[in-house]
Parts: sequence; structure tokens; C-alpha cells
Amino acid sequence: MTLRRSSGQAYAEVIGDPIAHSKSPLIHGFWLDALGIDAAYRATQVAADGLADYFTSRETDSDWVGCNITIPHKETALAFVEDRGDVRSSIRAINTVFRDGEAIVGTNTDAAGFYAPIADLNLAGQSVAVIGAGGAARAILFALSRMGVGRVTLLNRNPLKGAALLAHFGLNGDALKLEAPIPPAALLVNASSLGMTGQPPLAIDLAPLPDDAVVYDIVYAPLETPLLAAARARDLDTVDGLDMLIGQAALAFELFFGAAPPRERDDALRELLTS
Ligand code: NAP
Repeated sequence: MTLRRSSGQAYAEVIGDPIAHSKSPLIHGFWLDALGIDAAYRATQVAADGLADYFTSRETDSDWVGCNITIPHKETALAFVEDRGDVRSSIRAINTVFRDGEAIVGTNTDAAGFYAPIADLNLAGQSVAVIGAGGAARAILFALSRMGVGRVTLLNRNPLKGAALLAHFGLNGDALKLEAPIPPAALLVNASSLGMTGQPPLAIDLAPLPDDAVVYDIVYAPLETPLLAAARARDLDTVDGLDMLIGQAALAFELFFGAAPPRERDDALRELLTS
């Protein structure tokens, strides 16, 4: 591979279709400004049939330091990258691609982004309930399998899909219909699109949860989902979707730009993202 001579500023980008809604340019732009790094981060629309051309053009562009990947490319992009962490046989989806010398490497930072806000909870052997069985749920189940949690109850409109995921990640538990009552879990995670702007609300009864349960909603638009509002009304501890979003971006930022983002400025970043 011959790299094109650098024509200017280093840059990373987020690719997807559609892409205008992505908050990644705001997050990475905030950190680049805060650290005074002379680089850019932009959003680039790439259609499904344009993915191969995209990687061909970026591979030889020495200004390009990597990209984040969103819908619909998270799985198909695996074909164009080195898969050092064997994501293909675990989460099966990548959200970050970075350059490492001659190599273009793919990875998934969603699992670690999910884990970071709950790292201090002692969930070993504890029961967990997860709603949803899509791409984000795969990253979350991967993280839960590494955390040594106890039984996992997975609620989804298609329980067969949920059962297959539990088996894939070697988790013990039950796959139930979405309408089933939730168990008395130590952690409840909404990993579905329910509650997101434009989607139906997530209608579940939190009564079975113990008083020290934590409710984690990965949906970040809106930030205060009806699920989180119900959890707060019951005085339960909550984690919102921006925590995971900022966490997964922080790991990608370091891979792109070689510097840790200024996490002590998270409050200002959250304000920017919600204004
Ligand atoms: P996805 O792969 O499309 O999966 C969506 C999940 O929601 C599936 O399990 C799907 O059920 C379920 N679902 C969708 N519409 C439903 C409906 N009307 N009734 C019942 N279930 C429904 O999407 P994803 O990538 O996993 O993302 C899910 C959510 O997480 C989105 O809101 C996304 O913005 C958010 N997210 C947040 C972060 C973060 O960093 N905070 C990261 C990734 C994703 P089926 O399995 O039956 O299709």
C-alpha cells in the first residue's frame, strides 16, 4: 500500500447512512478543542454499496486516522479491517476503525463504554435483566459475560432471538417475551430502541426491582426516558445513555489521536450534547 502524501490536517470521521443525527462530531470536536489538538472529526454519509470504495480511498489517505461506524455498517465493515480481538466471533459488529502502522484495525468500544459507568458496582453473581436483542444488546451481553454476572433475563419481542444470544455469550438465564414481568434484578438495562424519540415507549412495571437496583437506559434521545423517570420516581439509582455514548467515544478518541480525552470536563460536554 502506498500512502498518499499528507495534504493537511489529520482527521477522523463517523460513517453511516443516515448520519446527520450523529453526536460523535460534537463529542470528538469538544475534546480536540479542549486539548488544542490540530485535527478534525467530521460526519460522512456512506451508503451500503459505497463501503468498499470508502475503505479503499481512506487506506491510502495518510491524513485519515480512523473512523467510527454506525448503522448500517457495523457488521459489514468487518470485511475490510484486521480483526485482532476476534470481534467477528463475539459481538460481530465494530464501531471503531483505526490505523496502526500499515494496518487498518477494527474494534468495538461499545462494550467497554457500557461497562465504565457501572464498573464500581459489584455485580458478580447478581441477576440482571436486559431488554432488547439488537446490536447494542450484543455488546452489553458480551460485557456482562466478562463481568461474571449471575442469571440474565433477556426480554425481547422475539424470545428465540434472545435465547440464541444468551447461548452465544455463555450466559445462564431466560429469554422471555417483552410483556413478561421483569425479575427482581440488581441491574435492569434497556438495550432496545423503545423509549427513543419516534419509537414507542418502553412500558414495564419496575415494582419487582429491589430498592438498591440500578436502572440503565442506553437510549440517549431523549436523555430523560420514561424508564429513567419511573426509576427516579422510585428512588432507584440510574445511568443514562450519554454515559455509555461518551465512554465508547473516549476509547475511540484515544485510538485515533493518541491522547486521553479530558473526562474531567464531562459536565460541560453533557451540557453541550443536551443543549
Ligand atoms: P438495533 O440493532 O436495531 O436493535 C433494536 C432492538 O430494539 C431490537 O432488539 C428490537 O427488537 C428492539 N425494538 C425495536 N423496535 C421495537 C418495537 N417497536 N417493539 C419492541 N422491540 C423493538 O439497534 P441498536 O443498535 O441495538 O440500538 C438500540 C438503541 O440503543 C437505540 O436507541 C440506539 O440509539 C441506542 N444505542 C445507544 C448507545 C450509547 O452509547 N448510549 C450505543 C448503541 C445504541 P427485535 O430484536 O425484535 O428486532
